[in-house]
Amino acid sequence: ETKKDTQDDKVLVMATNAEFPPYEYHDGDKIVGIDAEIAEAVAEKLGMELKIEDMAFDSIIAAVSGGKADFGAAGMTVNEERKKMVAFTDTYAHASQVIIVKTDSAIAGPDDLEGKKVGVQLGTTGDIYAGDIKDAEVERYNKGFEAVQALSQGKIDAVVIDGQPAKELIADMSDLKILDEAFTEEEYAIIVAKDNTELKDKINEALKELKESGKLDEIIAKYITA
Ligand code: GLN
Repeated sequence: ETKKDTQDDKVLVMATNAEFPPYEYHDGDKIVGIDAEIAEAVAEKLGMELKIEDMAFDSIIAAVSGGKADFGAAGMTVNEERKKMVAFTDTYAHASQVIIVKTDSAIAGPDDLEGKKVGVQLGTTGDIYAGDIKDAEVERYNKGFEAVQALSQGKIDAVVIDGQPAKELIADMSDLKILDEAFTEEEYAIIVAKDNTELKDKINEALKELKESGKLDEIIAKYITA
């Protein structure tokens, strides 16, 4: 059985994967981003100290359901499969899955991905969608940026990944573009252990206050300018 390493009731442990700008990423030795700031604001409302644990994206659900972390905030898309393992709070962001290709690619939309080599980040909803593309060969990477690099190097034909991170990941890569036609629309929420209704309710209350006070919009505007 796994337990979180701190026994302190005043410490709120968040699991994330800090490779997902603008939601969570490293800035020096700090983890910053929209989720980090929302979590900081939630912890403050709960009178607790936030501790962020960085891990692989596909370890977050197990960390939360196994009690190693109190909650997970990682641009996590609400879906039915995950609801079997963890509980989702209210949603706090609207998102999408987009397709990144080379600027000179003939791929113009989801239908053109048939039979292609599609890169994704392991364990993400992009991974699930890519698995449904007819005859596509899915290449799974630990970090979204690794998938983007493989695309730039011509090892794969496209990357399916969340829209906002996509913009940041290709910001310095003039050979890549994001297709106008998105793959799907999604919603992000925080996850807690299935039986932790108490924490879920507290986070929902805090999220509600952050939405009503305009603080949530303020955090998002700080990281998403365009
Ligand atoms: N939104 C995607 C998912 O929930 C990707 C999240 C991420 O990579 N941090 O699967």
